[in-house]
Amino acid sequence: MSFYDELEKLDFDEWNARVINASENSVIDALMHQNRTVEDFAALLSPAAVKYLPRMVKEAERLTRKRFGQTLGMYIPLYLTNLCNNSCKYCGFAAENKFRRKVLNQEEVYAECEAIKKMGYETILVVTGEHEKKGGMDYFRQMIPIVKKYSTYLMMEVQPMNTEDYRELKELGVDAVMVYQETYHKPTYQENHPRGRKKDMRYRMETPERLGEAGMDKIGMGILLGLADYHADACMLAHHISYMRKHYWQSKISLSFPRLRPAAGGFVPPYPVSEKQLIQYICAFRLFDPELEISISTRESSQFRDAIVPIAINSISAGSSTQPGGYAADHHDLPQFIINDDRGVKEISRHFEKMGLDLIWHSSRVS
Ligand code: SF4
Repeated sequence: MSFYDELEKLDFDEWNARVINASENSVIDALMHQNRTVEDFAALLSPAAVKYLPRMVKEAERLTRKRFGQTLGMYIPLYLTNLCNNSCKYCGFAAENKFRRKVLNQEEVYAECEAIKKMGYETILVVTGEHEKKGGMDYFRQMIPIVKKYSTYLMMEVQPMNTEDYRELKELGVDAVMVYQETYHKPTYQENHPRGRKKDMRYRMETPERLGEAGMDKIGMGILLGLADYHADACMLAHHISYMRKHYWQSKISLSFPRLRPAAGGFVPPYPVSEKQLIQYICAFRLFDPELEISISTRESSQFRDAIVPIAINSISAGSSTQPGGYAADHHDLPQFIINDDRGVKEISRHFEKMGLDLIWHSSRVS
């Protein structure tokens, strides 16, 4: 029985109604509880909880500081290739989009790593599209040892793989793997992932379990905000996190909150999420599970990041490029998504240091 089988027993619409119709009393109860359930989480995410947002923010900040002190991990994405066999309707890298595709060779990976080193980063997130043939294990066997030389904590955001591959990646020095479910709503998942391996929802959803079996230090989870109604989707994610905590308690869990942004193909998010809703969403997760490592990327605006970081965030990226070769060379190919916070690394780090946060460059192990 995997979480995919558990999901079969959860009714998406029923959980949506539970969030929308949550009473003020259930919000007050959820705020008072020490250990919060998914039912509490649903109440904290509800319209009835909006009135209590200042209290949620205060509590989220208290829990973040209690668990992680003043630390803020700094990481940078390193795009190795923008090749992709999938056709996600919301993504600039989708197979149908015509633009120059690039796969970095060893020399180019070294050049990117040198450029990243000059920026001061040692926590690197390797990112690729999903392309088994040119961006699969054979390619990773060549490239990961290079990136490992430059990183004290190495993370990957690549296609879902099997347990044996994850074991091998761990031996090569990979510490964390992020595979986002995008949505737990089956019809929405099928509609937005019509072709390629990603079409297989079960295989993707069971990825955190394969990572847990391989003993990965950290597993990244999340949904793509804007794709389906986020109220029920977030509850499914909370159920999934509970499942992982129960079965694979040795691995840490990190969460990311990508909000759909403009991309090639002109995709318009059917369920846009406002900044206020995003703050409530992030705080609800912090209150639900204070151990979660929460990151926020440059997709969000500088104002938003400045506001949310001190409240609940454990790691951020800055000075990011979403193009292969984007640090060492001046590439202007199609990006995967539009970057919203384009401040430089120095500006951002000075800003958060002034706010009293201790920036961690050498490792994202902020505990
Ligand atoms: S979201 Fe990932 S899998 Fe989908 S098209 Fe973009 S790069 Fe490929």
